[in-house]
Amino acid sequence: MQQQIVEVRVEDVRFPTSLQQHGSDAMHPDPDYSAAYVVLETDGGRRGYGLTFTLGRGTQVVVCAVEALSGLLLGKTLEDIVDDFRGFYRLLTSDSQMRWIGPEKGAIHLATAALLNAVWDLWARVEGKPLWKLLVDLSPEQLVSCVDFRYISDALTEQQALDLLREAQAGKAEREQQMLQEGYPAYTTSCAWLGYSDQQLTQLCTDALANGWSRFKVKVGAELKDDERRCRLIRQMIGPDKTLLMDANQRWDVGEAIRWMSSLAPFRPLWIEEPTSPDDILGHAAISKALAPLGIGVASGEQCHNRVMFKQFLQASALQFVQIDSCRLGSVNENLAVLLMAHKFQVPVCPHAGGVGLCELVQHLILFDYISLSADLTNRMCEYVDHLHQHFSSPVVIRNAHYLPPKDPGYSCEMLESSVEAHRFPHGRVWADLSAQGRR
Ligand SMILES: [Mg+2]
Repeated sequence: MQQQIVEVRVEDVRFPTSLQQHGSDAMHPDPDYSAAYVVLETDGGRRGYGLTFTLGRGTQVVVCAVEALSGLLLGKTLEDIVDDFRGFYRLLTSDSQMRWIGPEKGAIHLATAALLNAVWDLWARVEGKPLWKLLVDLSPEQLVSCVDFRYISDALTEQQALDLLREAQAGKAEREQQMLQEGYPAYTTSCAWLGYSDQQLTQLCTDALANGWSRFKVKVGAELKDDERRCRLIRQMIGPDKTLLMDANQRWDVGEAIRWMSSLAPFRPLWIEEPTSPDDILGHAAISKALAPLGIGVASGEQCHNRVMFKQFLQASALQFVQIDSCRLGSVNENLAVLLMAHKFQVPVCPHAGGVGLCELVQHLILFDYISLSADLTNRMCEYVDHLHQHFSSPVVIRNAHYLPPKDPGYSCEMLESSVEAHRFPHGRVWADLSAQGRR
């Protein structure tokens, strides 16, 4: 498996999604979906591709952070890394001069995710497997050896993690077959971005229903009257039995969240996502407690920095749906820790996706979760957003509102070279054209 990493390249790749209000929500009215995109070159000629998702101007900072960490990968072989993956994770996250600007949070942790995603991609490519299959085929011992249990052993020990994975071995082959045939259930966020008109929402919802979607998310939180109108419209269109999810993207204070959601309760959302600051664990717990009698759960995680935060959210019963993110946490290593803790606390995992590349990445993690750990689909679904997939060499495949397991080796986040060229900031063709037109 000798593949010595001889070069780490990072690109600032941005997509002008704000021009059409794609991705708009209560806190991000003009997002340009972007990525710090990493390519690892090895002496054996293999490449590993990784990314982390960012927004527009923030990408510049994350690219710098990737460059600052990249020296820790140079000269290492893939074997060096995966033989002691826990140690390598800790090397990246605990570098004595870099951890001050984290630790394990913010831009430096997004950079860690981009680099480690590329390492996992390289490993899966060398093994000739899609990442989910690499994970499914690793032994429980190998899986836990990738996880840093520091700071979470009061909630989950290494031995307990091993026991959970061993217990779930029964029925694994059947669940893998089931996923290959049916795929993993998904919900759509594409119909109801905050900046979309009612007419646009109606059209997109009609199309989605015709395409077999049965779970829908609507952005809320800016104006209550608008939310009531939009939620009524979407509930009328999808009928009483389909699933409606709401997402406030951190807009409210705690009391405001409870009052606002009490007003939206008649539209029967399964969850309210990110009702307040993503750091406010006790606030989420208060909201959870207040909304439980209304049948509304709290979901969060896309901006939950690390496994320690997730541990506390779970310990405090502060969320009822865990939304892992393939690029916010420290790649597969830290996501494994969170999947294991969620399983122990019996809280369903419903990954955050969308952005650019997040669907491509996180589908692997949730397939692994079902096949090798949770063995349960109750109230579980993975987010899906239908744009920017055309820029990837192995884009997600959705059939009848389910993610079909990827077949190509790797972690599915290799971008087409032509897309990287065109969207490279600030001199790629797309940005040069917008600049010449005075639109940027
Ligand atoms: Mg969200």
